[in-house]
Amino acid sequence: MTLYSYSRISTFEQCPLKFKFRYIEKITPEIEHTVEAYLGGKVHEALEWMYSQVIKKQAPQLEDVIEYYAKSWKKDFKENIRIVNPQLTFEYYFDKGIKFIIDYFVKNYPFSDNTIELEHQVIIDLNNNGKYVLQGYIDRLVHDKESNIFEIHDYKTGSIRSQDDLDKDKQLALYSIGVKDKFNAEEVHLIWHFLDFNQKMISKRTPEQLEQLKQEIIRLINKIESTTDFPAIPSSLCRWCEFGKYCEFKKG
Ligand code: SF4
Repeated sequence: MTLYSYSRISTFEQCPLKFKFRYIEKITPEIEHTVEAYLGGKVHEALEWMYSQVIKKQAPQLEDVIEYYAKSWKKDFKENIRIVNPQLTFEYYFDKGIKFIIDYFVKNYPFSDNTIELEHQVIIDLNNNGKYVLQGYIDRLVHDKESNIFEIHDYKTGSIRSQDDLDKDKQLALYSIGVKDKFNAEEVHLIWHFLDFNQKMISKRTPEQLEQLKQEIIRLINKIESTTDFPAIPSSLCRWCEFGKYCEFKKG
């Protein structure tokens, strides 16, 4: 049995050749990260640390969160981080992260929505017999005790998405299946924080939609496991593809 992740499945959907490079040939790309990914990771870490203080009932100060972010950025920074847009600098991205944290802090203070887990691992057994199992990590899990609603919170440092797009999102919908199973939750809300736009967006799924999604993912896993052909599907995402060096399409 292969333990799947959402990124494994979405990579196959995005570009089977990229899937082959990453999961079959297991190529380790020379370029470790794009600066966007680095920024995203560092902001996630800072918000995770901030909420870990909230859980410990130690109200965080904004300066402390910024200091944590700045130290972490410096500690892990490497020269081979790639800037895709040559007109921008590392300082630009570093400052952007500070702005994300300030906006988020001001908007959400005092963080009293009852966070119960951070980087919470979910296991999703799609047909309840262990054949199709996915694992994922939820940035932040909230339980509203009054309404008994669970909330899956996800931070995004990239572009904003439309409500229509979020209503079709598979990743958080899959995670909600795991949350429902684990906590016996009746209602789970999917919540995205688009930090560059200081906007929070919400979506929900019916039990029927989740059942359809399970069947769709099972079909995709069957396809992945039986395919021998991994064509390139070029798209605008090629700009950020870490396997460009190995890809005939990108080299061309
Ligand atoms: S550069 Fe584009 S076409 Fe080539 S593997 Fe990456 S995503 Fe696929």
